Amino acid sequence: MEELENNRKYFEAIDLVSDWIKTYKKTIRSFPVASLNAPGDLLNQLPKSPPQHSISFEHLFEDFKRLILPGITHWQHPKFFAYFPANASPPSILAEMLVAAMGVQGMSWVTSPAATELEIRTLEWLRDLIGLPKNYFGCIQDSASAGTMIALTCARERSLSGKFGNKRAKATQLVAYCSKEAHSSVEKGARIIGIEKEHLRYVETDKDGALLSEDLAKKITEDKKNGLVPFFIAATFGTTSRTAIDPLDQVAKLAEQEKLWFHIDAAYAGAALILPEYRDLAAGYKLADSFVFNPHKWLFTNFDCSAYFVKDRDLLLNTLGVSPEYLRTDVDGDIINLRDTSLGLGRRFRSLKLWFVMNWYGVIEMQSRLRHHLELTKKLQLLISADERFEILAPVTFNLICFTLKLGNQASEKLMKAANKSGKLYLSHTVINGRFSIRLVVGQTDVEEKDVLEAWTHLSQFADEICEN
Ligand SMILES: *Cc1c(COP(=O)(O)O)cnc(C)c1O
Repeated sequence: MEELENNRKYFEAIDLVSDWIKTYKKTIRSFPVASLNAPGDLLNQLPKSPPQHSISFEHLFEDFKRLILPGITHWQHPKFFAYFPANASPPSILAEMLVAAMGVQGMSWVTSPAATELEIRTLEWLRDLIGLPKNYFGCIQDSASAGTMIALTCARERSLSGKFGNKRAKATQLVAYCSKEAHSSVEKGARIIGIEKEHLRYVETDKDGALLSEDLAKKITEDKKNGLVPFFIAATFGTTSRTAIDPLDQVAKLAEQEKLWFHIDAAYAGAALILPEYRDLAAGYKLADSFVFNPHKWLFTNFDCSAYFVKDRDLLLNTLGVSPEYLRTDVDGDIINLRDTSLGLGRRFRSLKLWFVMNWYGVIEMQSRLRHHLELTKKLQLLISADERFEILAPVTFNLICFTLKLGNQASEKLMKAANKSGKLYLSHTVINGRFSIRLVVGQTDVEEKDVLEAWTHLSQFADEICEN
């Protein structure tokens, strides 16, 4: 009896939620893009302890709308231009719902064979889609940060083991390299695996933010002279600040000469490699030991889903693999267990999202959506550069525009804040050569030309107000 009652509550709630999801999709443009909450706004309204007795779902759902929604920043709003997008899409939302309904935990092959095998196959699809050769093995991580940390861990293992024709290094001798513009996840990963703080070297960059390979070579030489052991370089394809591209082919050459692990962080721009015309920009990427990119940014797969590719699959499995008695199964020798590819034991079934996304759209549609974003970016770039109040501060290689008001840093910051507070669009910022730079990314799943043009109208009006005063 009680079970029937519980089911009824669940089924009715599903209807309410799915209706809301449909309405949300239709009305998303009416929400302020960024939450207008101040710190503590929600905390002050939440009871200090949970209810002793069940409340009705209608009541709970009203609370969700009243309390929670105002504190949500609408990442799927077509006028969300800040940071990098964290795209969702209808197929990936549906897959996430199914996974949640089944509550799949795919730590081992036996704990849901489909979770393991679908991940293997969809990552092969993704690998081929971005033009990586067939000798890469792919798996899903929760974040690019985790991928980079795992790359560091495998590189460390390789250097410490002496099994790869290298001299066995001591952990305290290891030195890692990345450019000054590399993502902070390199620093975090190095810290976690115990690389000494002063043994992470920041290589100089050129005026556009790309790593200077001469400086990398110089630093490696110096370190070796001092008895240290260079072991790892993280190069970036599309830096977070301004999508700068490190000279991957030059880095690859040095990495090969010096026996460094060559990791590529393509967290954001890696998605662009599904477009063959963008692959020349990444020349050398097929030489990487490891390559990470996030379908959960620009590739329509809702957070989280980060694709991590490695050449040496067995090194990955041996480095992270564990097999206590309580996890042993009869098929351990026949197929991999995905727990051996990532940090946690438990593992979400994220490949269902990728599978839904790639089947729902097909390759052609995925490519044309990205090209559409890139074209809209070009249009907006033309509008901004034709307006003499503005200046573009970095090459627009993908769909990120970094620009500023010529009036100066304060005025530009004021412009960004006015835009964000208006709720009409949402922007973020960086600093480029000492100048406050607004970052605007055109990469929402369903962004249309009208969204970009309206955003420009708003920006232009805010600029009028700021330039007048
Ligand atoms: C976004 C980003 C990251 C971090 O991605 P997570 O998946 O959030 O860890 C790392 N590197 C670059 C270049 C990025 O743009």
